[in-house]
Amino acid sequence: MAACIFCRIIKGEIPCFKLFESDKTLAFLDINPLSKGHALVIPKFHGEKLTDIPDDSLAELLPVAKKLALATGAEDYNILQNNGKIAHQVVEHVHFHMIPKPNEVEGLG
Ligand code: 5GP
Ligand code: ZN
Repeated sequence: MAACIFCRIIKGEIPCFKLFESDKTLAFLDINPLSKGHALVIPKFHGEKLTDIPDDSLAELLPVAKKLALATGAEDYNILQNNGKIAHQVVEHVHFHMIPKPNEVEGLG
């Protein structure tokens, strides 16, 4: 989809800090991170919502989010996925957020 920001990132037309890439999947750092290491995991197949994406393009997304969560070393993290404007989706290309949460005990220290 020509105007889609994430499709343009996939094509290399917009730069990103790439974390993982395969034939079906791309993961990169969020441009406006909610925490250090906030990553986005997207299918290369364009679709707005989870229900628009074929299963074979979805299969790798959670395993990649899991690898990224492990790579950050964060004990706690959120995996989020919004579908539609009312559900707070802004970029209309399916994406999973992987948001590491700082260790609260260390944060207080
Ligand atoms: P949503 O609210 O749609 O679930 O989240 C979209 C996410 O995409 C936001 O966290 C936003 O910061 C991120 N984002 C939007 N445009 C860009 C971009 O051009 N590059 C990167 N790396 N992230 C983006
Ligand atoms: Zn797209």
